[in-house]
Amino acid sequence: MILGVLKEVGAEQRVALLPEIVSKLVLAKVEVYVEAKAGANAFQTDEAYQNAGAKVLDREVLLKKADLLLQIGEPGQELIQHLNEKQVWVSQFNPLWNHDLVKSLLTQGITSFSMDSIPRTTRAQAMDVLSSMATVAGYKAVLQAANELPNFFPMFMTAAGTIRPATVLILGAGVAGLQSIAIARKLGAQVEAFDVRAAVKEEVMSLGAKFVEVEGAIDDSTAGGYAVEQSEAFKKKQQEVINDHAAKADVIICTAQIPGRKAPLLIPTGAVERMKPGSVIIDLAASSGGNCELTKNSETIVHNGVKIIGQSEYPSQMPVDASKMFGKNVLNFLQLLIAEDGSLMLDFEDDIVKGTCITHKGQILNDRVKSFVES
Ligand code: NAD
Repeated sequence: MILGVLKEVGAEQRVALLPEIVSKLVLAKVEVYVEAKAGANAFQTDEAYQNAGAKVLDREVLLKKADLLLQIGEPGQELIQHLNEKQVWVSQFNPLWNHDLVKSLLTQGITSFSMDSIPRTTRAQAMDVLSSMATVAGYKAVLQAANELPNFFPMFMTAAGTIRPATVLILGAGVAGLQSIAIARKLGAQVEAFDVRAAVKEEVMSLGAKFVEVEGAIDDSTAGGYAVEQSEAFKKKQQEVINDHAAKADVIICTAQIPGRKAPLLIPTGAVERMKPGSVIIDLAASSGGNCELTKNSETIVHNGVKIIGQSEYPSQMPVDASKMFGKNVLNFLQLLIAEDGSLMLDFEDDIVKGTCITHKGQILNDRVKSFVES
């Protein structure tokens, strides 16, 4: 098969495969075509791709010749028109949210896979781009918060007096939240974390943070590791507890999300107004509405002296390692689609292949996406 790696569009700095991954695919008898300058923003030259065994080509040729097209970002409508039903599209296009895009892929008869739909099973862990990118986001969020805060993170005992450590509140203790806890602790801050899933309490504590408890959450043990919608009474109680902790925090990192839904609102304007001027809120849930009522996606605003940064694109800001992780996850997934002779193999008996496949021959294969798009 011919696998084509496209150059990302817009502000995206990452590239779907680094040359080191290309050479592994070439060893697996796959012909790899890379769009000219695809890796430029991630500091990868066309020459490096050629040395790894790829052909570097113009976009038009690549779009016409590739059996499988790979990109990180979602395909634009114009690009979908160029694809045919024999081609396979692989990227990360948030199908639980992007229903119009799913419908276009259906109409065009494209076989599409979305890397954010990899089932969250033990076997699929090495393919989980959501975890990889959340790791990057959790790390970068804390670094930016430390940079923006007009105070130190660690405690200092100096001749000029003692500086108390910053207090960091992490909302949502999934992959990004746990990474943020670890980095904030390494920088010496006092860290508290809140999540509706009680199961994360031990993980939070093992990283040296305090778990903020709100009793009465709906049991989520059958939701496959994801959060579920909570009752109104729980949300009210949770709000009061979070408001009190937010008022004392120097930094809040918001990571709480529910896949395919608007992010839960955890920091209303009133809570921001109780915070100290100079405090910083980083909202990683910005692209799905934000956990803070005042968040504006991809913008920084200041309200009563509190800086609110709506940022869901951190992985793009660390393009080398983020591309390395993304590419490794994709390689592990592609191995399920490559036969011994290097040809394309679509085995829908495999739960990972079926679960990650969004559209195939005019049908939606992923059950969760199907129920969201058809509801
Ligand atoms: P996510 O990005 O969907 O959400 C982030 C966190 O926000 C979650 O921990 C969620 O519980 C929390 N949250 C949602 N609503 C909230 C609210 N109202 N208040 C506070 N917190 C709220 O989650 P994620 O990081 O992608 O991980 C979700 C789960 O999946 C975790 O348990 C993780 O360990 C698990 N996981 C499993 C695998 C695997 O088995 N292959 C891989 C990755 C993650």
